[in-house]
Amino acid sequence: MKRLLLVLIFSLAFSLGSPPCASAEAFPLKKPPPTLFARTSKVKPVSVVKKIRSSNSSERTRVVIDLSHPVFYQVKRISKVKKLVLQLSQASLGESLSQRPSHTVKGKLVKKIEAKQNGKGQVELSLTYKHLGAHKAMLLKKPNRLVLDLYPPVAAANPFEIQTIVIDPGHGGKDPGATSRKGLKEKDIVLDISRRLKELVEKRLKKKVILTRNSDVFISLKKRTQIANENHADLFISVHVNSAASRRLKGIEVYLLGRASSKRALATARRENAASHKAASNLQKMILNDLEREFTQNASLELAHFTNNAIKKTLISKYPTPALGVKKAPFYVLSHTEMPAILAELSFISNHSEEKRLRSKNYRQQAAEALFKGLAAYIQSSMIGN
Ligand SMILES: [Zn+2]
Repeated sequence: MKRLLLVLIFSLAFSLGSPPCASAEAFPLKKPPPTLFARTSKVKPVSVVKKIRSSNSSERTRVVIDLSHPVFYQVKRISKVKKLVLQLSQASLGESLSQRPSHTVKGKLVKKIEAKQNGKGQVELSLTYKHLGAHKAMLLKKPNRLVLDLYPPVAAANPFEIQTIVIDPGHGGKDPGATSRKGLKEKDIVLDISRRLKELVEKRLKKKVILTRNSDVFISLKKRTQIANENHADLFISVHVNSAASRRLKGIEVYLLGRASSKRALATARRENAASHKAASNLQKMILNDLEREFTQNASLELAHFTNNAIKKTLISKYPTPALGVKKAPFYVLSHTEMPAILAELSFISNHSEEKRLRSKNYRQQAAEALFKGLAAYIQSSMIGN
């Protein structure tokens, strides 16, 4: 239950990074010998926390807390709010820290440290960090001080961490995509939605986003997949709007790679593949043999479901239309990308009422919002799994 949180003087606390999803982890490391807590042991003097200093080297940031005497301390990491909290027992804030309790730390890792007296005999040092990998705390003597070494996150620490997202606005340039009777072009709509999506992901998730195109230019399907692969994207989302011979058809669907689940799904993939010469015909066969993509496929399926749910909640709740669900079809851009990938068909440009919606900025913003929420939900779930 309640773990022993006090760490003995001279003990060394070393944590080798922590899962980014964990909300709070305490790192009690060494149990002090029981004699130290025996009632008979003499009363320890209160340690005065005199000063906070910090320095940077190429590999770490070091924070030194100068003390009058050794202390018991506990380090707790609260990833959710990016804080490292040090609780010092039998300690009191010295005069200069009482007057100026906040210490700014230079460098890339830490923003600041704030000291406060937390009731009698308890001092809390709260360190707000920007990025943090491992941290190490140790008590040193002569002079008495608590040293905290902070290391940057190791890039490869979590191979599942999503860092780069490629958003692929379909068509462009000489390839207008589907065109409505009134001349509205798919290529313009999907570029606008993709830009809105990019902004949401950058702003709210702080992830790197690459658009396969950011203007009205033609880009081959091959080039699109190259952009994603060469940038080692972690997720790929292709944005399209649908079209059908029957003008009554409407709704929104989310695709991942696979054998076409219906004739219409295959027709949709054929239409979207048309910009690439021969690719489409062999694709259906190729996919059957490709078992190595199992992980990517499972992840794509999850991403598709999260996106589909977000579309229902965020978009279809405001703009009623059939939720056509998650489907499989042999899309070229999905088969040649090496990361989890989906393709969204955000309503039918061939349908009168949906065409009208696609013209509205509000609808396009909500569509971007829905795609964003799907991505965000997927990213969150992929973190908890690791
Ligand atoms: Zn398209």
